[in-house]
Amino acid sequence: MASKIISKKKTNKKPLAAIQQLPKDLLIEVVASIASQSFHDVHNMKICCRDFLKITEEDYVLQKICLDSFPLIQWFPNEKALSFLKRCMKSGNVEILFREGFRECFSYSNENNFGGLDKLKTAAQKGHKEAIYMYGMILLCSENLDSRNQGLEYMRFLRKSKNIVSSRNKVHCLSKSFWKNNKMSMRRQTHLCNFKETCKGWKPKEGRWSFINDDDDDTNLCEFCRWDYELEFFYQLFNI
Ligand SMILES: [Zn+2]
Repeated sequence: MASKIISKKKTNKKPLAAIQQLPKDLLIEVVASIASQSFHDVHNMKICCRDFLKITEEDYVLQKICLDSFPLIQWFPNEKALSFLKRCMKSGNVEILFREGFRECFSYSNENNFGGLDKLKTAAQKGHKEAIYMYGMILLCSENLDSRNQGLEYMRFLRKSKNIVSSRNKVHCLSKSFWKNNKMSMRRQTHLCNFKETCKGWKPKEGRWSFINDDDDDTNLCEFCRWDYELEFFYQLFNI
């Protein structure tokens, strides 16, 4: 009976021992990949054993960790959460950079709009999708040709990778969490499409009811009308 219990204990330890035998770099990569999908999964790993706890404290993991379960504005901040977010910021977490930029550009609590725009730009350059959407759309609002062209580059990248709907949905969701104060952008006085009178325009693919998925986007129609359509959505979102 005693030997049976001993062998059962050994069996229970095996999966943990196997993952612990991974080279540290690889283990960090695995944990970072989990962290980028779910904060709660990483939290569960943390309390699982001391080795995992150490790995989850690595800068690389904190850089990637998903912060979807944290509100954009900590209305009821607690020290533990603030200290964790501070560590993420220090590690170079791009989501935090994006959120700071987002708040600074459009909330009442900040006056530093241009600092906010720089943060959005940096996060966009690091490949953060929602930052690409925000920064690209702010640039598209501009009548300045260089800014407009840069905005087009960002938005084309997002369109090609079929990430427009998911990005605008997340931005929409975050924008509901504070009173918006737009001092950043103005409505364009001209359409991006120069041939509005004769252009056939843009609409979702034939047979689709509305634009709710990137696959609904008819890329054969006028690209500039497509961005004029997106601008209308953006204007409404931020009271522009
Ligand atoms: Zn057009």
